[in-house]
Amino acid sequence: MREQLRRVTQAVSAAEGKQNILEVIVSEVCRALDIEVCSIYLADYRLNQFVLTASRGLDLGHSTLNSLDFNQGLVGLIGQREEPIYLSDVKKSHPYTSFPLVNEDDFNAFLGVPVIHQRKVLGVLVIQAKQPRRFDLDEETFLTTLAAQLSSKLASSEFETSFEQSDSEFVIRTMQGIPVSSGVAVGKARVVFPLEDIHSVPDRKTDDIADELNKLELAVKITRDQLEGMSQRMQGLVSSQELSLFDAYQQILGAEGLASEVEEQIRLGYWAATALRIVTQRHLNAFKSMQDPYLRERANDIEDLANRLLSHLVKANKRVMQFEPDTVIVADKVSAAMLAELPVSDVVGIVSLTGSSTSHAAILAKALGIPAIMGLESFPIKQMENRSLIVDGYNGQVYLSPGQSLINQYQALIKEEVQLANELVQDETLPNTSRDGSQVNLLINSSLATDTVKARGCGADGIGLYRTEIPFMQLDQFPSEDVQSVIYSDLLREFHEFPVTIRTLDIGGDKQLSYFPISEDNPFLGWRGIRVTLDHPEIFLVQLRAIFKASVHNQQLRLAIPMVSTLEELDESLRFIHQAFDEVSQELAESGVSIRLPLIGLILEVPAAVFQLSDFATRVDFISVGTNDLIQYMMAVDRNNLRVKNLYSHFQPAVLKVLTKIVQECEGAGISMQICGEMAADPLAAILLIGMGFSTLSMDVSCIARVKRAISRFDMDEMQKIAKSAANFETEAKVRDYLLKAMEDKGLGGLVRAGN
Ligand code: PEP
Ligand code: MG
Repeated sequence: MREQLRRVTQAVSAAEGKQNILEVIVSEVCRALDIEVCSIYLADYRLNQFVLTASRGLDLGHSTLNSLDFNQGLVGLIGQREEPIYLSDVKKSHPYTSFPLVNEDDFNAFLGVPVIHQRKVLGVLVIQAKQPRRFDLDEETFLTTLAAQLSSKLASSEFETSFEQSDSEFVIRTMQGIPVSSGVAVGKARVVFPLEDIHSVPDRKTDDIADELNKLELAVKITRDQLEGMSQRMQGLVSSQELSLFDAYQQILGAEGLASEVEEQIRLGYWAATALRIVTQRHLNAFKSMQDPYLRERANDIEDLANRLLSHLVKANKRVMQFEPDTVIVADKVSAAMLAELPVSDVVGIVSLTGSSTSHAAILAKALGIPAIMGLESFPIKQMENRSLIVDGYNGQVYLSPGQSLINQYQALIKEEVQLANELVQDETLPNTSRDGSQVNLLINSSLATDTVKARGCGADGIGLYRTEIPFMQLDQFPSEDVQSVIYSDLLREFHEFPVTIRTLDIGGDKQLSYFPISEDNPFLGWRGIRVTLDHPEIFLVQLRAIFKASVHNQQLRLAIPMVSTLEELDESLRFIHQAFDEVSQELAESGVSIRLPLIGLILEVPAAVFQLSDFATRVDFISVGTNDLIQYMMAVDRNNLRVKNLYSHFQPAVLKVLTKIVQECEGAGISMQICGEMAADPLAAILLIGMGFSTLSMDVSCIARVKRAISRFDMDEMQKIAKSAANFETEAKVRDYLLKAMEDKGLGGLVRAGN
């Protein structure tokens, strides 16, 4: 069965377009199980019906009944119960026989399984046989496994068809991702894809067929010349049999081959790269379904050749890459390098299928002030080119081909945002206080030069977290002490009159250095933060020395250690810190310069550390709570995993309880505390945190103004009461609703949009 399953999924993954995928599934299942009927009923939630969309064995055209209400028939029952049903003889007296089935008259044996994606029933997969028979366990598990594997493929193809079918004003198609940079945008999608991956080329049309044909001709010529060059270099080094591979490539490219088929597609109006993808896909499908392993392998040659051609085709385009105003970049993986390279001045939004809120690209998007959403698993990227999109960077929703009324609503929202931003600018010079004048400290989380430029003007009280790993990521080797010293000096000079907290290198998890890859099964539970630097004193000490050298520019430098989970780690870290400090202060003293040991703190983000806080507190000067990781470890949810996104919330009662404990421990030990995770950037949460006793919050520069406005509307004792009441709720939803109401009562509803 495993081999059959592999063959079916392989055939399905090679198929494109929803109807085609469905046809492949039904015929492959019939073949694999040697069965007479396989059908797929897809759920249509507008009509509350299951529609027979593809079938092998049933005649769709002459069907008496090709759709069933959700509460009708065996199919409806499977949808309701969300579990498989099998009957060896449908006609026999049976409680289910009162449920009609589509054209079931000739078929007695029945097995149906639901196709479910993210708790939503997308359809039902059914097999039937004429003779009464029991389907065996293997067949049931085969079908259940296939349905589970297909669910995400179907989820994305569901959107593809809804585009094809109608652009109705009233059909709202949304996809949920992870909001990584706040704000909203309305624009046209532009798909950006890697230069050497033929499968990622989007559907794109052209108005200039002659130009595309010329580009193809040129790309073919360059590829041919390259192959010729390779073949000549290999002469004498490999056997003539292996050399013949290059001849085969030349033949595939030749007048009768790939190039002429691509030409045909271009003449149909496709952009050359899209035409190449269509033709390549066709050939790959043919090769991959072949039984002969040698011929199946030839698929790799076609793919390799297509990728070569593609790189020459799009290189020409890349040189003149320009975006229209109001472009939304859409990519499988938006990387920071991509954002740095592209002309982003016309970009209003970013949508990435992979990535997370703490990815380097997300941090850059925030710094650039571009709303961004990542982690949209089943986004139909190939159909996106030129579609209008709404990007809601507050709650992570992308609206696909929205109707004019929704666009109008969002445009009104953008106007409100601009208005609010202008109003908030006027608040910048006001002190950061509650309504009754209690002082709070609002600090910046920073990592890029652009952040610090903006931070100067936003009325923040300093830098609460400088993530040193970001400059490390921008380089292609570990930076030397001198290089680092320049980076930290620039930062400390810029903020010489403010407190600045520099965090030592925090790599691992989802923060990778290209020149020091860490590959682990569970990276968030692995070699991260201080665990890496303690194992590499040569890296840790160089960084510490660079920080201390730069400290001459700022008397209020603070040093924070990430991911501490045991006392031994803290003691070891302190030993290295003192060693580096003693060396640097002696060296500087020789030139008459004196430095002071900065305040030293730890980023509290591992639950174990919370329970040893009283021990840690005797050794450090401050605690900075990293809620991003603390929530991840408390709730046992990967902070970047969309599937468990609902659990990852700073309003979970358990999270509030642990924060309350931290406040009690820190107050008991007389040690200062701050929050530096994303929680502090949410105005709803900021009120709560201040009420709990955290008077210092550090956040992304773009969030300061909103948080400041929210805090300024509450008296300190109001926030304390809110924090106390919130602690009594038993569910996340109740906490959130309660806080939302508190904000709305103050007329701050517009400041805290849903999901922020
Ligand atoms: C945190 O974990 O809350 C934090 C501030 O660190 P990072 O997001 O860089 O892991
Ligand atoms: Mg962290």
